[in-house]
Amino acid sequence: MSESTSNGAMIEVRDLKKFFPIKKGVFSRHVGDVRAVDGLSFDIGFKETLSLVGESGCGKTTAGRSILRLLEPTGGSALFRPGPGEAPVDLFGLSQSELRQWRCDLQIIFQDPYASLNPRITVGNIIGEALKVHGIASGAELDDRVEKLLVRVGLRAEARNRFPHEFSGGQRQRIGIARALALSPKFIVCDEAVSALDVSIQAQIINLLKDLQDEFNLSYLFIAHDLSVVKYLSTRVAVMYLGRIVEIGETADIYERPAHPYTQALLASVPHPDPTRERTHKPLEGDVPSPINPPPGCHFHTRCPVAVAKCRETYPQMTAVGERHSAACHLLEE
Ligand code: SF4
Repeated sequence: MSESTSNGAMIEVRDLKKFFPIKKGVFSRHVGDVRAVDGLSFDIGFKETLSLVGESGCGKTTAGRSILRLLEPTGGSALFRPGPGEAPVDLFGLSQSELRQWRCDLQIIFQDPYASLNPRITVGNIIGEALKVHGIASGAELDDRVEKLLVRVGLRAEARNRFPHEFSGGQRQRIGIARALALSPKFIVCDEAVSALDVSIQAQIINLLKDLQDEFNLSYLFIAHDLSVVKYLSTRVAVMYLGRIVEIGETADIYERPAHPYTQALLASVPHPDPTRERTHKPLEGDVPSPINPPPGCHFHTRCPVAVAKCRETYPQMTAVGERHSAACHLLEE
C-alpha cells in the first residue's frame, strides 16, 4: 500500500509544462510552441508504480525526462522525498551541481537498449561508470559489484567483459536495468522500457522490474503506449492525451471502470484473448492532432464518438468518479 497519504508521496508533480519553441526566419522569430506537456499533476507513492499511457506524441516521454531534468521544464514543480516523512527536495530549484548529487536516487531506463549503450565500451564499464564517477567503488570492489548486478538482472557475471552488440534485445535491456540499479536509486523512470521487445521478452522484463521493486523498495514512473503492457506492474495508471492527463486512477478502476471516452477506446484497441467477445466500446479511429495547434475545447473532440457541442468550446475539468479516480470529460461533470 502507498505511504503517500500519511508520510507524503515520493514524487509530487504539479502543473508540469514543457513547451518547445517554434522559430522561423533569419532572426529566429518565436512564432509558436509545441505544447508537449501542458499542466500535468500527479503523485507517486513509496514503492508505487504510476504508469503514464497514451499514443505516440502525447507527451509522456517528455514528461518523464522533464521530471528528471534531462529536459529543462518550462513550468511547474516536481518534489522528491527521499524517504517517508522526510523533507522533500524541489528538483526544479536545484543547480546542476546539486542535481548531480541527487542523480544516484533518480535514474532512467531507456526504450532502445542498443542506442542507449555505448557500443565501444564493455558491459562492465557501462554498468560501473557511474560507480566510478560518484567515487562509490573502484578496482576489485567495482568488479564485484558489477558482477553481482549482472547476476541479479539474470545475466552471467562474465558478461562484463563483452560488448553490447553480443547480446539480444532483451539481454541489452537487462544491462540497461543493471546500469540504472548501480547507484541504488529510489525512483526510476522506465521510458518505454519494454516497447521495443517481443511480447514474451516484455513479460520477462516486467517480471524482473516487479521483483526488483519488491527487493529494493523502488518507485517507478512507467511510460508506455499500450495499456495491455502496464496492467500487471501498475499501482495506478494516468492516461495522457495531447500533453494532459485525461484520466487517473487505481489500476483496477482504469481497467474495469474506465470513465473517459479516450481510455475506453484505448482499452477497446487492446487485443483480447477471446476474439468472439463483444466489445463494449469502439476502438480508436483517426490520428492524434498536432500539439502545435491543439483543437479548441476538449482536445479529444475530433475523435470522440460521444462529443457534444460544449466539447468544441471549453476544456473539461477533472471530475472525481471514484476514490482516487478522476477524469476530464464534460459528460462526467453533470
Ligand atoms: Fe468526448 Fe466531450 Fe468528453 Fe471530450 S469532453 S471526451 S469530446 S464527451
